[in-house]
Amino acid sequence: MTKMTPEALSRLGSRTRLVHAGRDPWEQHGFVNTPIYRGSTVLSPTMHDLVHRTGRYTYGTKGTPTTEALETAWAQVSGAAGAVAVPSGLAAVSLALLSCLKAGDHVLVTDSVYRPTRLFCDGLLKRFGVETTYYDPLVGGGIEALMRPNTAAVFTEAPGSQSFEMQDIPAIAEVTHRRGAVLLMDNTWATPLFFPPHDMGVDLCIEAGTKYLSGSSDLLLGLVSANERCNKALRDTYDSMAICPGPEDAFLALRGLRTMQLRLKEHERQALDLARWLEARPEVKRVLHPALESCPGHDIWKRDFKGSSGLFSVILNPAPQEALAAMLDGLTLFGMGYSWGGFESLVIPFDCSTYRTATTWNPGGPALRFQVGLEDLDDLKADLDAGFARLRGATSVGWEPEP
Ligand SMILES: *Cc1c(COP(=O)(O)O)cnc(C)c1O
Repeated sequence: MTKMTPEALSRLGSRTRLVHAGRDPWEQHGFVNTPIYRGSTVLSPTMHDLVHRTGRYTYGTKGTPTTEALETAWAQVSGAAGAVAVPSGLAAVSLALLSCLKAGDHVLVTDSVYRPTRLFCDGLLKRFGVETTYYDPLVGGGIEALMRPNTAAVFTEAPGSQSFEMQDIPAIAEVTHRRGAVLLMDNTWATPLFFPPHDMGVDLCIEAGTKYLSGSSDLLLGLVSANERCNKALRDTYDSMAICPGPEDAFLALRGLRTMQLRLKEHERQALDLARWLEARPEVKRVLHPALESCPGHDIWKRDFKGSSGLFSVILNPAPQEALAAMLDGLTLFGMGYSWGGFESLVIPFDCSTYRTATTWNPGGPALRFQVGLEDLDDLKADLDAGFARLRGATSVGWEPEP
């Protein structure tokens, strides 16, 4: 086997990059996987080497062979100039924003953003003198009207957290760049496999590795990838805070990376099947899944995305809270809990109406978000079927599906 350069690998397909990026068996006695390097101190052989920092590694927080392998692989898979790994997806969001904003700046953030991102903007960013304006996720090129002379960054997330609005990233990128601002995107749902962020004009891209990179609900991790324009500021900001993940977690992320394509394709297939099944149920008013023709963002998804993942939402026909609780409490396969991307199916009720500021959320019935795992579909459907029977049974006031 002959060693391949990173440049040669970057010209190969995404599946090949997933398998080969960020590992070099010939630097580790032929073993296939990069081992877990633990450590703080890194020794230098001479005083000259110590003082001039000649070594490839200088201190644990600056990166180890394990974390560097993950970052190199992620940059390769994302088509980025560089990437950094941090201990959670939210840390990736905050690091990316801190790397491109300063006191006195203004940032535009989609109203459909992951809620903790909103709390970071309204809390810490505000305290440090950065003003946030939320915008309608469907704004597209109309974002121009919201830009101010001090707008330094535009934050996107597609599809929207829980509510699944699609954003026209190329149109937003055109305006953002013409006005000299930085475009950020939280790409956790699609991952670079289904949406190549930097090819589409995104400068800084966030991935909660907690989700599909782990794939097993056993890991908290975040990644930020950057194009040439933003890479140095990203690395400098990271170095000044040293928010480094533990080496075991970097190892688990690398382990997940190798099979991510397979798992995503299967989550995609399972979720599409279940979404279509749900769409045909009388209890369901609407399914919010961008890969379904009936979903408002479908055209954008079809134009820009290469696939869909295992997470989507449904709006039920009106039903009282007790009926919804009866449905959810009795499920035996769908767990109720936050996060997603693992092998197991999940469901949560949600309500965006209490915190949106640029748009209103009034879907006309209870909203549920599903994460579809890798179980047998027939079993998942039977679990939900029994749940719907409980929903109907507990709806005392003459339950009728809407026409
Ligand atoms: C889960 C999630 C995050 C945060 O990831 P954590 O590792 O849980 O902090 C960020 N963005 C999106 C879209 C997410 O779903």
